[in-house]
Amino acid sequence: MLNRSFNGGVVIDNPHPVDTVEIIPAPLPDKVVLPLQQRIGDEAIPCVEVGDHVLTGQMVAKTEDHFSVPIHASISGTVVTIDDQFVPHKSGLKSKCITIESDGKDQWIKHTGCGTDFLHCDKTTMIEYIQASGIVGMGGAGFPAHAKLEGIQDCHTLIINGTECEPGIMCDYALMQHHPREVIRGVEILLHICGAQRAIIAVEDDKQEAINSLLMYCHNDRISIVKIPTKYTSGAEKLLVKALLDIEIPSGGFAIDIGVVCQNVATTKAIFDAVIDNKPLVSRIVTVTGSGIESPNNYEVRLGASFEHIVSMASPNTNQHDVRMGGMMMGVDVEDTTAPICKITNCIFVNDAVEKPKTQECIRCGQCNQACPVDLLPQQLYWYAKSENTDKAMDYNLADCIECRCCDYVCPSHIPLAEYFSFAKALHRKTTEEQYRTDVARERFEFREYRLERNKTERAKMMAAKKEELKKKMANDKAQKDKIAAAMARVKKTKKAKNDAQ
Ligand code: SF4
Ligand code: SF4
Repeated sequence: MLNRSFNGGVVIDNPHPVDTVEIIPAPLPDKVVLPLQQRIGDEAIPCVEVGDHVLTGQMVAKTEDHFSVPIHASISGTVVTIDDQFVPHKSGLKSKCITIESDGKDQWIKHTGCGTDFLHCDKTTMIEYIQASGIVGMGGAGFPAHAKLEGIQDCHTLIINGTECEPGIMCDYALMQHHPREVIRGVEILLHICGAQRAIIAVEDDKQEAINSLLMYCHNDRISIVKIPTKYTSGAEKLLVKALLDIEIPSGGFAIDIGVVCQNVATTKAIFDAVIDNKPLVSRIVTVTGSGIESPNNYEVRLGASFEHIVSMASPNTNQHDVRMGGMMMGVDVEDTTAPICKITNCIFVNDAVEKPKTQECIRCGQCNQACPVDLLPQQLYWYAKSENTDKAMDYNLADCIECRCCDYVCPSHIPLAEYFSFAKALHRKTTEEQYRTDVARERFEFREYRLERNKTERAKMMAAKKEELKKKMANDKAQKDKIAAAMARVKKTKKAKNDAQ
């Protein structure tokens, strides 16, 4: 077994460890709220109406956008509303959702896929099952799985990301421990689709139980399980590729550009369900943890159940809480806990509300530079971002910042560096777009001026040519007339001479 590392990053122990990592099935919710707008792509279009009875797994919203996926009922029951509801997003805005009230029966639609002998299925059929099952990247990216797998050429390595994105999250750890067979079979399906020679399942070195479980079911020479250090942000795609293969993904590029396909381990299990059984994605494993929780653990949750429904099962204390979707580093604050669990909700952090430490001046200690896992200079970037000198910040590779907040974490002055970088990137985009629009407007104006001037010159030339032509014609006409007059004069003279002779 190999053992790989990468530069920078920060080692943060799980702040709320548990004795036994479980997957506790959450009871069926009374209702589910299913957002039509996924993280990427167009909003899905409802194909049910208020009052319709639906079965679990039935498609309730379809999509024509390739970068979007269909939505399925996660319980059986009645569609009660199709309207705007709060969703877990940093904008805090509402978004259109389908709400289904449970009939308590959880009756499923019929679904049959390729079966366990999946190798008889061609790749196109498998990808169709994946698309129809509504699978997106479940590690947090939310990119549609089918779009990542279509048209793959020259893929030499498949990487299965079994690292947890952030300290405290345990959902993928639990999945690998409790569903190793499905994960390994899912990897074999992906190998078949990608045509890669080998697959590497990357697991952090503090998750030995998961490694043991996977090894028990892994009898395929093309699949290896590789330990990587338990260090944030080992789960970031570029860093994982660098750590495992020692290959740099170029700035602005993707793993597939260098012949590598990466999939999250939970996505791999969902792909197994989709291909083997044509089973739509209607649930996921969610870690519920934080200082406000008595019993942190993992729950198998129907999509669309509310945050408060799941949090209530993990024995929250009675204090005021800050609730966050995702991890403590890159998560998103959730103001309204009636918001629904969605496909990318890997973790709910419930922390006792505490006052944030005050930000102080930079003391130029350089700790942020050492912590950056993508070898940037956050201290330098901070000055340029603060003074809104985004061109200079871009010269220092601001675009490569993955906003992991490792620099924030180590900063003794508590400067929210990643927020500055996110703002500077947005400002640069806006300035560049404005500059682009200005350039286009200027070019259009200059072209219009040039066109008017050219038309004027051409018209003047045309008029001059016409005048010249007219002049020539008039001269010709006159010469013609003179010729005729001369001829007539000659005839007259001849006639007169004849008359005089008689
Ligand atoms: S937020 Fe950006 S600059 Fe800071 S450590 Fe992460 S990648 Fe580096
Ligand atoms: S860690 Fe904070 S205080 Fe230290 S150099 Fe970086 S920004 Fe300045």
